[in-house]
Amino acid sequence: MIITDYLNIDDLLTEEHKLIRTSIKNWVNKEVKPIIDEANQKHEAIHSLTKQMGELGALGSFIPEKFGGAGLDQIAYGIIMQELERGDTSIRSTASVQSSLVMYPIFEFGSEEQKIKFLPKLAKGELIGSFGLTEPNHGSDPGAMETKFIDKGDYYLLNGAKMWITNAPICDLAIVWAKNEHGKVKGLIVERGMQGFTTPETHKKWSLRASSTGELVFDNVKIPKENLLPNISGLKGPMMCLNSARYGIAWGVLGAGFDCFNTAVQYSLERKQFNRPIASFQLTQKKLSEMLTDLTSAQLMALRVGQLKEEGKVTPSQISMVKRNNVNIALKVARESRQILGAMGISGDFPIMRHMMNLESVITYEGTHDIHLLITGFDITGIASFK
Ligand SMILES: Cc1cc2nc3c(=O)[nH]c(=O)nc-3n(C[C@H](O)[C@H](O)[C@H](O)COP(=O)(O)OP(=O)(O)OC[C@H]3O[C@@H](n4cnc5c(N)ncnc54)[C@H](O)[C@@H]3O)c2cc1C
Repeated sequence: MIITDYLNIDDLLTEEHKLIRTSIKNWVNKEVKPIIDEANQKHEAIHSLTKQMGELGALGSFIPEKFGGAGLDQIAYGIIMQELERGDTSIRSTASVQSSLVMYPIFEFGSEEQKIKFLPKLAKGELIGSFGLTEPNHGSDPGAMETKFIDKGDYYLLNGAKMWITNAPICDLAIVWAKNEHGKVKGLIVERGMQGFTTPETHKKWSLRASSTGELVFDNVKIPKENLLPNISGLKGPMMCLNSARYGIAWGVLGAGFDCFNTAVQYSLERKQFNRPIASFQLTQKKLSEMLTDLTSAQLMALRVGQLKEEGKVTPSQISMVKRNNVNIALKVARESRQILGAMGISGDFPIMRHMMNLESVITYEGTHDIHLLITGFDITGIASFK
């Protein structure tokens, strides 16, 4: 018995949404699930699947077809993220970064030439992008970033470093947020092969082990002037990208959460202690009931925020609320599910511990659990507690 839709939310989706869900789900079952445990155990990134995600339309699904995207709506984007993360957060992270943090800024803030040059190849997964905002000394306060560039007449000279960057070691290009000599944050497209640009890998992670994470280091990198994103200035640029990615995360974690929940339901029906299935104990039923209630409320929030986003009415604070809430619920569900499986909960034969470790990153990246709470606090009171 697999439960994924307790309140018949399917009735609120279109036939196209359901078809997309089935096609991504089938692909995840065929290509991701058989290899994902070993990739995590061995700490090996599985970027070889990126081109297949491109073929499925999972990269830049909301980018217009004219630029190689699938031209789908925001709900479809959410559904794609949900089904990918049912497989593993690493796969979803690659699709999130490529779609919301690389293709979106090029589409939204880029020149026509930049769109034509990069978007179709990014959509096909022929190019892999990364997004550099976080720095060694600045995570929650990106406005204090130290990475900077100066205008040298024919080119810009970029210096600094970004840290904890998804896909940095394998990226062909990076969207890098840096300050100009006037202290204004701007976006630059930094391409692999530019002299002085290196991307050392971050090792020894206990989370997102099937994803490649690293640094972006700029040592006097000459950036051609045509690689500046012309149509954005200030922190608003990266924040708009993060809004798009955070929205996708709110859906994505539902996939991980339901995978844990359904594993726990199945196990509790089969596992017997005291001559009875552990599912028969009230404490197990309490856990399962609370998990399903929480996951269902998270589904409804994701859908509603998706509708608002599609209508162009969503606020960044609403996205903060749903990202924080849904990641928190998925992580709680993962922890409770792990307990239901007892010792088996830590085994790679089940997906729970892997999802749980992944979600420990998701609760921190794209704005931490606490920072999102403070954003809601600001929205309620009008008083910024963290600026
Ligand atoms: C696997 C992984 C992938 C990532 N991928 C990317 C990527 O692709 N691109 C990118 O740019 N970044 C990426 N990040 C970085 C991520 O976005 C940052 O880790 C995150 O923004 C938090 O920054 P920090 O780790 O420096 O924590 P800090 O900002 O140092 O925060 C540490 C703690 O202090 C708390 N805190 C900070 N300020 C306040 C305050 N004012 N009030 C209360 N509490 C506060 C935080 O909530 C947190 O609990 C990734 C991180 C991980 C783990």
